[in-house]
Amino acid sequence: MGDAKSPVGCMDCVRLEAARRQAVAECHDHDAVVDATVAIRSHFRDAHLLFRTA
Ligand SMILES: [Zn+2]
Repeated sequence: MGDAKSPVGCMDCVRLEAARRQAVAECHDHDAVVDATVAIRSHFRDAHLLFRTA
């Protein structure tokens, strides 16, 4: 049912997490860190939440 999938090996998660870490490392733009964190949560909810709660 649905298209929920495991976050393990999800390339979107890998890409979003890498972007977040880069934003944190560069650190001069707090908004970029917030945006990246929101993007991860939004993606996770859309792509994986059903998997987590199933
Ligand atoms: Zn993902």
